[in-house]
Amino acid sequence: MKLWRTPFDQEEKATKPATVLIDKERCKGCGYCVEFCPKEALKMSDELGPKGYTIARVADKSKCLGCGLCEIICPEFAIILEQGEDKK
Ligand code: SF4
Ligand code: SF4
Repeated sequence: MKLWRTPFDQEEKATKPATVLIDKERCKGCGYCVEFCPKEALKMSDELGPKGYTIARVADKSKCLGCGLCEIICPEFAIILEQGEDKK
């Protein structure tokens, strides 16, 4: 995208590579993270978590912007965002 000026907070707001970690123990399968992810990087899986709910999973980590919305929106605090590339 071509910008006609450089925003003052460009560095702060720039998207960065991030790894999304979903805690299976905490996820209750509400689907908020999947619904609101702007890049459709998350999906509901067929896997059942320990509580018996279908849990969310990272479907395509290459799509993730590292915006942190999923981490903020999760009512169970089940998502942790780690800045930086996945080292695995
Ligand atoms: S918002 Fe949290 S609890 Fe809901 S599906 Fe996503 S990870 Fe699970
Ligand atoms: S950090 Fe943003 S882009 Fe990445 S999975 Fe979460 S909501 Fe989607």
